[in-house]
Amino acid sequence: MYRKFIRCIRITILVCFVNIDVLCHNLIMNKKENAAKILQLLKKEYPKTGPFIEWTTSLELLVGIILSAQCTDERVNMVTEDLFKKYKTSQDYANADIEALEKEIYSTGFYKSKSKALKETGQIITEDFNGEVPDNLDDLLKLRGVSHKTAYLVLAKLYGKNEGLAVDTHVFRLSKRFGLSDARTPIKMSKELSAIIDPKDYLNWNEYCITHGRAICGRKPKCNECVLKNICAKKI
Ligand code: SF4
Repeated sequence: MYRKFIRCIRITILVCFVNIDVLCHNLIMNKKENAAKILQLLKKEYPKTGPFIEWTTSLELLVGIILSAQCTDERVNMVTEDLFKKYKTSQDYANADIEALEKEIYSTGFYKSKSKALKETGQIITEDFNGEVPDNLDDLLKLRGVSHKTAYLVLAKLYGKNEGLAVDTHVFRLSKRFGLSDARTPIKMSKELSAIIDPKDYLNWNEYCITHGRAICGRKPKCNECVLKNICAKKI
C-alpha cells in the first residue's frame, strides 16, 4: 500500500514536471514566432535603419560607442567629427592630455568617466593588443568603458560575430512592451532575447528597435500609428 502510494506520488511529480516543461517550451516557441514576425514587419516598415554613429576604422567605432552611452548618436557624430581628426590611433588616446580630452567630449555627458575610459582603453589596446581592437568578447571586456552591449556591437559590426544581443535603452523598452521579456537588467534581457531571436538577427534586432523607438515607440508610444499594434503586447 505504502509502495503504491509512493509510486503514485512519483508519477504525479513526473507528470507535473513534464507539463511545466511543455508549457515553457510552448511559451518560448510563441515568443520566437512573435519576435520573428515583429522583425519581419519592422524590416518592411523601415527600408533603412539609423542614423547611427559614423565611423571608418575599428577604433573609431569603439570610441563612438563608448561616447554614445547616455548620449544621442547625432551628438556623438558632432563631437567625433573633430575628435577623429586629432586622435587616429590607440597611442593617441593613450597619450591624450586628460583635461583637453574632457573638453573635447564634454557635450556627450559623463565626460570625466568617458575621457578616462578612452585614455585607459587606448593604453590597453596599445600595450596588450598591438594597437588593434580585440576580436573576442573576453578581451573586449578588459577595456575600460566597454560593457557587454558595446562588446556585442563591436563584434557584430566589425567582425560579423553574433555572440550576443546588444541591449540599449530602446531595445530594453521595446522588448518589454512587445511582451518578449520582463528582465530587470540589460544583461538578463540579452540572455532571454538571445534564446528567442536568430543569432543572425541580433544586430538587426538592436538597430530596428532603435529606429522604431525613435520614430514611433518613444516615451509616449503612438500605438494607433504603429505597424506592430496587432502583435505587440503593449506592456507600457
Ligand atoms: S503598439 Fe505601441 S507599445 Fe507596441 S511597439 Fe507599437 S507603439 Fe510601441
